[in-house]
Amino acid sequence: MDTEIIQEIDVQSVMTKSSLPVGGYSVNPYVGCPHACKYCYASFMKRFTGHTEPWGTFLDVKHWKPIANPHKYDGERIVIGSVTDGYNPYEAEFRNTRRLLEELRGTQAELMICTKSDLVLRDLDLLKQFPKVTVSWSVNTLDEEFRADMDRAVNIERRLKAMRQVYEAGIRTVCFVSPIFPGITDVKAIIEEVKGYADLIWLENLNLRGQFKGGIMAYIHEKHPALFPLYEEIYNHKKLDYWKALEKEISSYAAQQGFPYRVNDLPYGRSEKGKPVLVNYFYHEKIRLNR
Ligand code: SF4
Repeated sequence: MDTEIIQEIDVQSVMTKSSLPVGGYSVNPYVGCPHACKYCYASFMKRFTGHTEPWGTFLDVKHWKPIANPHKYDGERIVIGSVTDGYNPYEAEFRNTRRLLEELRGTQAELMICTKSDLVLRDLDLLKQFPKVTVSWSVNTLDEEFRADMDRAVNIERRLKAMRQVYEAGIRTVCFVSPIFPGITDVKAIIEEVKGYADLIWLENLNLRGQFKGGIMAYIHEKHPALFPLYEEIYNHKKLDYWKALEKEISSYAAQQGFPYRVNDLPYGRSEKGKPVLVNYFYHEKIRLNR
């Protein structure tokens, strides 16, 4: 692990009313994320927390007062890990995410966990005690070399194995194909791989803005030069043709395979085994307005 700056901090509360489209609360038991994904939009967090170190090299371990009235969250959706990974490798030692689950145990809260780790398996005993739980793993490639270029989380094989185990334990799973790298992410190959143990497949385009745009463009230029003109077209000239074509391709693939296909939606419930629901979160508003 290359995360060098670990500090423990006191916070009033760990629960934050969410501004995410999925609503409810978002909970981040840590500040920073050792997974250090090169495309991490959460790196903007540095601005609000006074950190000047490179993203991925620091981690604040939050200490909060025990949640006073956990039943306040009955029926609420709680997203764990919107700007950190609650199952980053340091969770094995600090157990903050586990503590949070213990404090919420007995409530009717709906949990949504976003991770790139298999450490979540440790908490299956607790997760099974909640009425509604969804665990999503981000998988945007089956190519381990590209994966290792992009993040320091566990390898894809471990993520998929964890997804299968959680699915088999009766918990709803999501394969979050995000971010989709034009010309690199093979969406259909990933769906084929996970369709037997993912209830939902979420699809999200790579969005390049802010600090990390330069790094990603330089990476494409160096490692995938043949794709560079495409990236320029999409990210410098704001052309949406690639996404429109991919959307069309995936929706007809879904129809052929008999996979339900939704746009910008968050359906609830388990899916029929082998028939995951595909949910498209591309630049929907722009694509649709342009039609
Ligand atoms: S796992 Fe998520 S929060 Fe952590 S660095 Fe990667 S994208 Fe950011």
